[in-house]
Amino acid sequence: MAELKDQVAIVTGASRGIGLAIAAELARAGAHVACVARGLDGAVAAAQGLGGQSRGYACDVSDPAACIELTKQVEADLGPVDILVNNAGVTRDNVLVRLKDDDWSAVMNTNLRGAFNLTRAVARGMMKRRSGRIINIASVVGLTGNRGQANYAASKAGLIGFSKSAALELASRSVLVNVVAPGFIATDMTAELGEDTRAELADRIPLGRIGDGDDIAGVVRFLAGPASTYMTGQVLVVDGGMVMHG
Ligand code: NAP
Repeated sequence: MAELKDQVAIVTGASRGIGLAIAAELARAGAHVACVARGLDGAVAAAQGLGGQSRGYACDVSDPAACIELTKQVEADLGPVDILVNNAGVTRDNVLVRLKDDDWSAVMNTNLRGAFNLTRAVARGMMKRRSGRIINIASVVGLTGNRGQANYAASKAGLIGFSKSAALELASRSVLVNVVAPGFIATDMTAELGEDTRAELADRIPLGRIGDGDDIAGVVRFLAGPASTYMTGQVLVVDGGMVMHG
């Protein structure tokens, strides 16, 4: 069912991993997707793989001016933005006493400030049109914390607080803001962990496997579509049952 037919979606971090799976799923649902990454080649290749009117754009989401320019360009090329998926994210892991200033700011600037930059850039238009979906990709570690990831966990916890505040501010204009918090998903980000660690992790997951991009993409499609019109400010944990809260 093409429930997102002719809607315009921006997906950041769409050149690979979870973002690419999300972009493909939204395109299958009928959306025209602006695939965004810092590297233009990867973004363009991703969009070409989707077909239709989808296009690739180079933008570093940590740069506020670049996010405003990106939004203008996407609107000129594809039309007003209906869906924004803030998925771009990076890790710079280390135990906190060894974290460098730059490890902190690089992670914060992409994962948290990047989501703010683009949300602010699209929100005014969505509010005027009284319609829009903003879906932010956090992480279960934003809920639980994680050794060696104080910067990353803080950025994802911040993203959850940001999303709830945005949901409150935008609700009266029917702009919905929700969060997906993935557990362990097989991408370049988790490939760094090594095979033994990944096998140990799979043992700790009740559903018995590390997730893949499509496990997240289906939930994002739900949050972008007509089945979730009465949901805002929510955090959907998609982790194979690894973290269960009472
Ligand atoms: P990935 O495979 O490392 O891909 C990251 C994507 O983000 C790439 O397309 C990259 O392209 C882009 N990117 C990075 N920095 C950017 C920036 N400043 N501006 C624009 N684009 C940028 O990552 P992933 O594993 O798919 O993760 C996607 C999201 O899910 C992240 O927010 C991550 O924190 C979250 N997440 C992942 C997992 C997991 O287990 N994999 C678990 C929980 C949450 P360029 O390098 O060309 O910019």
